This record gives sequence, C-alpha cells and structure tokens, in this order.
Amino acid sequence: MNDRIKDLLLNTFGKDCVVFNVSAKNFTSFKTGGELAAVVFPSEKKHIEFLFNLSKEGVSVRFIGCGSNLLISDDGFDGIMAITKKISGISRSEKELSVLAGTKLSTLIKFCIKKDISGFEFLAGIPGTIGGALINNAGIKEKSISQVVLFVEYMDKNGLWQRKGKNEIIWDYRYSGLREKSFFVFSTVLIGEKGDPDQIKKKIALIMKKRKETQPLVFPSAGSVFKNPPGFFAGKLIDQAGLKGFKVGGAMVSEKHANFIVNTGNATSTDVFNLMKYIQKTIINRYNITLEPEIELLGRFP
Ligand SMILES: Cc1cc2nc3c(=O)[nH]c(=O)nc-3n(C[C@H](O)[C@H](O)[C@H](O)COP(=O)(O)OP(=O)(O)OC[C@H]3O[C@@H](n4cnc5c(N)ncnc54)[C@H](O)[C@@H]3O)c2cc1C
Repeated sequence: MNDRIKDLLLNTFGKDCVVFNVSAKNFTSFKTGGELAAVVFPSEKKHIEFLFNLSKEGVSVRFIGCGSNLLISDDGFDGIMAITKKISGISRSEKELSVLAGTKLSTLIKFCIKKDISGFEFLAGIPGTIGGALINNAGIKEKSISQVVLFVEYMDKNGLWQRKGKNEIIWDYRYSGLREKSFFVFSTVLIGEKGDPDQIKKKIALIMKKRKETQPLVFPSAGSVFKNPPGFFAGKLIDQAGLKGFKVGGAMVSEKHANFIVNTGNATSTDVFNLMKYIQKTIINRYNITLEPEIELLGRFP
C-alpha cells in the first residue's frame, strides 16, 4: 500500500482508527490468516463513501463484522479491511427494530431480553454482526434472518444509498442477493413481536444449551464449514466417512460436530483449506456428493 493511501486513511479515520500491517488472526474467529496491509474502523456514512471512492481508484476494500464466517489466506490482504463494529446501535419503534450493521447479534439478543421482544431468539449463539448475518442470510434450520427483515439500507455497487424492502432482495439458504448488489450494508429494520420475558429467556437458554452440547465452542472455528447438500446433512456425511478427528497440521475435523473444522492451536489458513479439500474429495469419492463451502475464502489459496 502506497504512502498516499496511508496518509489519506490517517486523515480520514484518525490515527486511533487505522492500523497497518496487522495479522488477520486478530479479526477472524478461526484465528488464522496472514498480514492485513491496512485495517480501518469506519463509524459513519461518509467513511463508507470515502472507502467506495478509493475502491473506484482500484484499491481493494473489504468489510469484516466479527470475521466468524471467514478464512483469510496466509498471504494476507493487500487492500483495506474495514471493521464494522463502530457502526453499531439499536433503536425501537413498537415492534420494529432499526439496527446498524456492526451491531453484534448477541447485543440484539440482550436488547430483546431487556425490552420483552420475541422473534429473534433463533439468532442466539451465532457469533456475528447484523451486517454479516444479512449478507449470509444467517440462521438455523428452522428460521433465517430474512424472515424477520422488513427493510435493508445499503450502498450499492454504484455508490448510491438504497433502501429496499425484504421482497426486493433475493434470499436463499445462507445466501442473500446483497452479496452481489451491495458495496456496504448499513442498517436494517427488523420486525419482532411483544413477548413474555420468561419465555424469551427460556427459549434462548435452551438454544445455548443445545449449542454447547453439540458444537466445539472451546476451539476457534468459523461454525459449519460446508452447506448441507439438498436432502443431506454435511456433518453426518463427514462423520459417516470416518473423518471426525482427522487432522491437517493444526486444523482438525471436530470430534463433537463433524461439519466444524477447529483450530487446535497453531493451524494456518492453508491447513484449514487443505483439510476442506480432503473432506470434499472424500465425500465425492464415497457418496458422489459435492460439498459447497458455507464459509467464505478470502485471498489466494493453493
Ligand atoms: C461457533 C460458530 C457458530 C456459528 N453458528 C452459525 C449458525 O448457527 N448459523 C449461521 O448462519 N452461521 C453460523 N456461524 C457463522 C457466522 O457466525 C455467520 O455467518 C455470521 O452471520 C457472520 O457474521 P460476521 O459479522 O462475523 O460476518 P463476517 O464473517 O465478518 O463476514 C461475512 C461476509 O459478510 C461481509 N460483510 C460483513 N459485514 C458487512 C457489511 N456491513 N456490509 C457488507 N458486507 C459485509 C464480509 O465482507 C464477508 O463477505 C457460526 C460461526 C461460529 C464461529
């Protein structure tokens, strides 16, 4: 990254909100990845407009919420990585919640408990931001975030701010059309319902208990690595293929949940990538089923 861009970043974001040459391990739940040339912390729309203009000059700009669905290559990223956590906040009008993109799902859950709003319990335990959840249409088997969306406000790929209703956006299993249409997702309006505080807490406690029982939450990971192929569960196929506990370097197929790859301590992103390839090859050879990644790969991989 050249000095002119570095100076521009420092002038725009201030020295407390720019870091150069920092490891991606600090910004991903896998705790892997190489060096990021520049990390910035935008906090308002004009920062996004600035980043858009830089991207038009040819500088690569990417956004990270909690980095909980990302595998960043060991070569790192030579552009600008913008962390969204300073674009955060929730306001309420009756059953509608306006939520800024960098708000953590856990903050939304706490807000709903405090204000007796139900309908969002299914998001409990998903370690991401609203922005990342909208991009991925995050959720569980029974419910995805698209089901509680009324509007999304985003900057499109031409640099124009848009406000679209839920039905104007394509939603699919762990996919939303925002991935192609947006440069940046800024906020959303979600619809909940008046709930009973005890029932809300009970539901959340149950979901969290199930997660603790079935997921390897003590290790760094990015959740489910592969999407469930139609009619199958990726985890079940990987388990049946005998891959639980299989390791490449420091990356291991979790013993607890076969669709999780965990970082046992010193995994590189290449270890995770090579393990993913090995799993895919095994499942194709054994069942003739292609496993599509649910996690997102960013950067160069072998
Ligand atoms: C232990 C564990 C359990 C998990 N369980 C689930 C689960 O049950 N269900 C589920 O769906 N997922 C699950 N996940 C995966 C992950 O938490 C979700 O995909 C989550 O929605 C990602 O949010 P994030 O903020 O971390 O996004 P990131 O990983 O930071 O980013 C994901 C993508 O969104 C983009 N992005 C993020 N914010 C913005 C923005 N404001 N504007 C534009 N682009 C943006 C990024 O550039 C990237 O392309 C789990 C992960 C872990 C580690």
